[in-house]
Amino acid sequence: MTWKYAYIVFIFCLTACDPTRHFEKQIIDPVNQQPAISARQQEIDRIYSLLVYYLVYRDWQPDTLPRDKRRGYNIGALLVDKENRPVYYGLNCINSLDNATQHGEVRAITAYIAREKCFNLDGFTIYTTLEPCIMCAGMMTMTAVKRVVYGQHDVEYSKAFERLAVDTRPIGGFPPYPRQVIAEPSPSVFTGRLDSAYREFLRTDPEKILAKFLHSETARALYHDAWQALLEYKPEDPSNFPVYKGAIQFLAGSGNGQE
Ligand SMILES: [Zn+2]
Repeated sequence: MTWKYAYIVFIFCLTACDPTRHFEKQIIDPVNQQPAISARQQEIDRIYSLLVYYLVYRDWQPDTLPRDKRRGYNIGALLVDKENRPVYYGLNCINSLDNATQHGEVRAITAYIAREKCFNLDGFTIYTTLEPCIMCAGMMTMTAVKRVVYGQHDVEYSKAFERLAVDTRPIGGFPPYPRQVIAEPSPSVFTGRLDSAYREFLRTDPEKILAKFLHSETARALYHDAWQALLEYKPEDPSNFPVYKGAIQFLAGSGNGQE
């Protein structure tokens, strides 16, 4: 019994003294903490996620089209203002413009600021179909975007906001970058569906290129289902009826996006 007790104490001390776990708790855990989101806001997030999936689906670039004939990747971003109204969107145009910077987020942010002659996007939320890269995360940080809600997790280019938020001073590093943007996966069911389809793609596809998955018939079918889900959506919270109506009206509006 005494030996058993001593063994438990030994294991406890080993865990408590583990420097990796110590720094993980001090450096990584704070970055992964998410703020509480109200049920009403979660529903708004689901509605706008469906809307941005549809904006991409509406101009779907299939893998049957040669690469030089495609606009760009099937990725898009939707800007939502402080009053929770969708105001602008952008789609990836890296091929049509032959310019690697032309991600949906960059296009939407720069075109909207130019059109509205506003200095930044203070308090805005951006809904994207894919977890943003570091270039877009940097632009959102510098334009004072409040939140980003993304549809599918990236793997290689993931955790851009977390990397900007990490505080490595306890190990002699650097403070977090200023103006942190809250980044979280969408509560829409399509986040999990796209993530698991992408995991399967990574397991079976020899090339394992995300853009290839995003041009695939599997991804197209999921985006199609998201469009159907948007059309059939019935808000659970009655106060979200105007949000849903605004989302549907946004689809019909002209001049509210960059393709
Ligand atoms: Zn990007």
